[in-house]
Amino acid sequence: MAYKRILLKLSGEALMGEQNYGIDSARLEQYAKDIKQIHDQGIEVAIVIGGGNIYRGVQAEKSGIDRVQGDYMGMLATVINAMAIQSTLEKHGMYTRLMSGIKMEAVCEPFIRRRAVRHLEKGRVVIFGAGIGNPYFTTDSTASLRAIEVEADVVLKGTRVDGVYTADPEKDPNATKFDNLTFDEVIKQGYNIMDMTAFTLCHENNVPIIVFDMNKKGNLQKLVSGEKLGTLIS
Ligand code: UDP
Repeated sequence: MAYKRILLKLSGEALMGEQNYGIDSARLEQYAKDIKQIHDQGIEVAIVIGGGNIYRGVQAEKSGIDRVQGDYMGMLATVINAMAIQSTLEKHGMYTRLMSGIKMEAVCEPFIRRRAVRHLEKGRVVIFGAGIGNPYFTTDSTASLRAIEVEADVVLKGTRVDGVYTADPEKDPNATKFDNLTFDEVIKQGYNIMDMTAFTLCHENNVPIIVFDMNKKGNLQKLVSGEKLGTLIS
């Protein structure tokens, strides 16, 4: 196996599947099966899930809601997604723990780094909900930060695109995909992979990022087996 401990970042938007809002149960099932496949092989799995399928802080001001309030609403949205993933993973026989950046005792544990590491060592899938618990951050930044804190080998950023392209492949037919990029190349060319905070955290702490298509069944397994897939930024 190429990695022992991974941090998987799933976007909230991807959870919508073909819907315009909310959670697509078929997508959840696929993710759970893919995660189980690598978990059964002894890979330690930590997950950060976004909330864009339900609410994003940037939407708030448009509807007359305070931005900070909106960010907290976004963080709560990630907890809803995290609970859905937790339940689906458990249905597939995995032991899980949901750890939250905002205290919510009835549904999850607070995030405590040493406890998170212990859960991973015991083979529990750890899901980090509520982002880092502070407004003006994203779940990409959460993924980078938690990856560093639990000493994950890599951040696997699951998207609906299969890597980083020279231009938006959904708009430009001449766009070509990169197999590898360095952190410096990404900064120089201004490729949009994650927000700057998230990206800088990985860069400064030498945590590689792989952007890959999570919606294609089996891709996660291929990645952890060392197969070249998506775009590696290191
Ligand atoms: N958010 C936040 N702090 C965090 C993580 C998330 O304020 O540490 C809020 C922010 O408003 C964000 C929303 O939660 O827009 C949902 O997360 P994100 O947009 O990262 O989800 P994704 O794009 O991955 O679905």
